[in-house]
Amino acid sequence: MKIVVTGGAGFIGSNVVRALVEMPEVTEIIAVDDLSTGTLENLVDLPSRFLSGTILDAGLLDEALAGAASVIHLAAVPSVPRSIDDPVRSHQANATGTLMVLEAARRHRVSQVLLASSSSVYGANPALPKREALRPMPLSPYAVSKLATEAYALAYSSCYGMAVLPFRFFNVFGPGQAADHAYAAVVPAFVSAALDGRPLRIFGDGRQTRDFTYVGSVSSVIVEAVRRRVSARDAVNLAFGTRVSLLDLVAELEAVLGHPVDVVHEASRSGDVRDSQADCTRLRELFPTVRPQPLRVGLEATVGWMSARVPAGR
Ligand code: NAD
Repeated sequence: MKIVVTGGAGFIGSNVVRALVEMPEVTEIIAVDDLSTGTLENLVDLPSRFLSGTILDAGLLDEALAGAASVIHLAAVPSVPRSIDDPVRSHQANATGTLMVLEAARRHRVSQVLLASSSSVYGANPALPKREALRPMPLSPYAVSKLATEAYALAYSSCYGMAVLPFRFFNVFGPGQAADHAYAAVVPAFVSAALDGRPLRIFGDGRQTRDFTYVGSVSSVIVEAVRRRVSARDAVNLAFGTRVSLLDLVAELEAVLGHPVDVVHEASRSGDVRDSQADCTRLRELFPTVRPQPLRVGLEATVGWMSARVPAGR
C-alpha cells in the first residue's frame, strides 16, 4: 500500500511518516513538502521518498499520487498570526492547495483522503465542549482557510463519492515541533524558553484553555484510519476532551522540569479564541481503541527531544 503525506517534512507530517513506517501493510511512503516551515531533518532515517515542491503544482502531485491508496493531506501554512500577516498566502496554500490535492486524488482514483482542519473553525462560537455540529464562526483568515479545507473535502465526497476524513486538530504538540520562529505554538515556545532560562510569554491572563493533544495520539488515530479505511461524512474532532489553562500548562512543565519558571504576561492577540475543548464522542465512536497519551507524558517527551537539540552550555 502506497501512502502520500503532504506536509510530510512538517511537525505532524513527520510524526505520521514515522508511525506509517511501522505499518506492515505500507510498502511505500511519499512525503511532499515545499519546506516553507518543515525541514528535512524531521525525515532523517525514515524510509520514505521525499518530493520537494508545492502542492499548488499539479505535475508534482501527479508524480506523488499515482498508485496511492491514501493521501494524508497536512501541508498548509499553519498558525493564526501568520494568516493575519499574510491572508492571501494562507488561502493559496490551505484552501487552493487542498483543492489541488483533492483534484489530484480524483484524477488518480485515490480511495481515501485524510485532511487536517482545525479547532479554530469554531472561533467565536462560545459553546463548550466543541461539538462538530456547532456553527463555525472563524475569527481569522487561517480558520476560514481550514473551513474551506474540510468543506472542499466533503463536497468531493458528495459530488464524486470520494472517501474523505477531515479531522479538526486541536493544539497538537510533541517532538519535531519548531520553536525557533515568531509564530511558534505555545508548547514549544514554553519548553524552549524554559530550557533557555528565559521567561515564558503568556498573551493575556493565562486562564485561556486549550485541549492539548500529544502528536503520538494524533498519529495513532491517523494510522488506524488508514489501516481500517475509515471515512466520514462530516469533520471529526481529533482531540480527547481535556481543558488545560496556560497557567496549568506552566505548572505541568515546572513539574516535568523539577524547578519553577518565570512568566511574563503580554497583551492578548487578535484572532485567538478564549477556550477550546473538544467533544470527542464522534472520535471515540470511530476509533474506540485509541488511548491518548496524558499531557505529562507528552511534555516529558517534548522536553526530552528539545533538550537533546539545545546546544551544550546554553
Ligand atoms: P508544520 O508547519 O510543521 O507543517 C506544515 C507543513 O506543510 C510544513 O512542512 C510546510 O513546509 C508544508 N507546506 C506549507 N505550504 C506548503 C505547500 N504549498 N506545498 C507543500 N508543502 C507545504 O505544521 P503542523 O503543526 O505539522 O501542521 C500540519 C497540519 O495540521 C496543517 O494543515 C495545520 O493547519 C494543521 N493543524 C495543526 C495544528 C497544531 O496544533 N499543530 C492544529 C490544527 C491544525
